[in-house]
Amino acid sequence: MNFDFSDEQVMLRKAVRSFVDHEIMPYIGEWDAKGHFDQQTLKKLAELGLMGVCIPETYGGSGMDYNSLAIVCEELERGDTAFRTAVSVHTGLNSMTLLQWATESQKQKYLVPQAKGEKIGAFGLTEPAAGSDVAALQTTATLDGDHYVLNGQKTWISLCDVADHFLVFAYTDKSKKHHGISCFIVERTYEGFSSKATKGKLGIRAGNTGELFFDGMKVPKENLLGNEGDGFKIAMSALDSGRFTVAAGACGQIMACLEASVDYCHERETFGKEIGKHQLVQQMIAKMEAGLQMSRLLVYRAGALKNKGMRNTRETSLAKWQACDFANQAADDAVQIHGAYGYSNEYPVERYLRNSKAPVIYEGTREIHTIMQAEYVLGYRKDKPLSQMLPAWEG
Ligand SMILES: Cc1cc2nc3c(=O)[nH]c(=O)nc-3n(C[C@H](O)[C@H](O)[C@H](O)COP(=O)(O)OP(=O)(O)OC[C@H]3O[C@@H](n4cnc5c(N)ncnc54)[C@H](O)[C@@H]3O)c2cc1C
Repeated sequence: MNFDFSDEQVMLRKAVRSFVDHEIMPYIGEWDAKGHFDQQTLKKLAELGLMGVCIPETYGGSGMDYNSLAIVCEELERGDTAFRTAVSVHTGLNSMTLLQWATESQKQKYLVPQAKGEKIGAFGLTEPAAGSDVAALQTTATLDGDHYVLNGQKTWISLCDVADHFLVFAYTDKSKKHHGISCFIVERTYEGFSSKATKGKLGIRAGNTGELFFDGMKVPKENLLGNEGDGFKIAMSALDSGRFTVAAGACGQIMACLEASVDYCHERETFGKEIGKHQLVQQMIAKMEAGLQMSRLLVYRAGALKNKGMRNTRETSLAKWQACDFANQAADDAVQIHGAYGYSNEYPVERYLRNSKAPVIYEGTREIHTIMQAEYVLGYRKDKPLSQMLPAWEG
């Protein structure tokens, strides 16, 4: 495996880092405190071509490889989880899924404006009674002439008030269990659609998360993604892309924890020396560094498989599980290193700790990934190539 980044990728990392340092870092404390999702920043990300970084140029994207998307996610989450989450749902869960599953006319209508960042995409799978257990979802879609009628509700949907387009999962035939789930491209403007942000979140307060409601919402027949009954497969393949971005973002969270902790280690003295000279503090720093380097290897290995157009469900799940756990631990240690100051918003590490929890829950909880990994090792789970694979990177 080649571990070198191309000149283009080095420049990309520099550009995103500079953007984060100038456009996110100075304001994020205030946005987080106010629960404000800054849409102007999202627009600026789009202007830089960062909302479609790995989407081919023929579909309006920047045409870079999948590991370039990882670089974007790493650097964004170094600033805050909210903007990385936005890229995760827009590019990872929605646009990459369209690239994989949509017809040519669906791509022209929805993927192209999304890749250019002119329209924002999101992903509606979770429901009040269906999170890890996707087959428990209750939203229904009934064919009526030239359209489907959707009734139901989604919850915990990132960009619920912001996105223009959603991938929405609903039962077209409940008797077939998960083989009866279908996926629809839904526009915010459809009659019967509404959304409502969730207040009182532990973290990602500078992000937008909430509920979607479908009240007899009519969706044109041509907005069915794939075939009726493909919804479960589509959702799982979307998660292969989304989880990859979450894992990459977790590396950025660890970087942020390290940066803040190293600064504080040099700044704070106890017992006549910098706290960085105490071995137990060094242990926490060393664990963060090990977590960062191990997570990066897992993430970029999953990206290399994506670049080759190979199935990577197992590798992506492992990267997501480990990177998010390492980031959560790094954030906890970063607060510990800051002592009582880490417990206040005078320093960013309390935000890192709050933000690091959701990625351990969304896109497959820690427990779901643990089970998946055990099942692969025990031979209970085996992946075959999908009928519609994410296209290999053509370079
Ligand atoms: C900030 C945020 C943003 C989100 N954004 C989106 C989004 O954009 N789109 C979307 O569709 N969803 C989104 N989600 C929802 C997220 O994907 C779900 O919360 C997640 O899938 C877990 O589902 P749940 O919360 O219903 O937990 P549950 O599935 O009810 O799980 C509860 C607990 O039981 C454990 N558990 C469940 N089943 C098993 C099992 N078989 N064995 C062992 N343990 C088990 C879980 O690990 C967990 O600890 C978001 C969530 C958050 C917090």
